[in-house]
Amino acid sequence: MPNETTIEHQRYSCKQGHEQKTGDIPNNHCDDCWNVFYWSHAEFTKALDAVMFEPNGAEIIEAVKGKKTLEQYLRFRATHELIKVDTEHHEPVTEPITEEIS
Ligand SMILES: [Zn+2]
Repeated sequence: MPNETTIEHQRYSCKQGHEQKTGDIPNNHCDDCWNVFYWSHAEFTKALDAVMFEPNGAEIIEAVKGKKTLEQYLRFRATHELIKVDTEHHEPVTEPITEEIS
């Protein structure tokens, strides 16, 4: 039984069967894990969206969150076509989405 000071993390598995906890950035290169991570952390993903539209946004994300987070974020955005990103120059080419990620 978790006591009231315990923060409960939901566990989830990606399609490859890797188990992750919500709140944890995936520590692997599994695309599915990252996909689930970005879908289930809408606040984090929207924060990255905001940074992405700053000048040098991609560089800022890489500097703060690391290359893997940036690469997987760009892949996630490209996959879901929420933002079109010029993958060569890491520049967004469409407007950011405004609706909630659910
Ligand atoms: Zn996985």
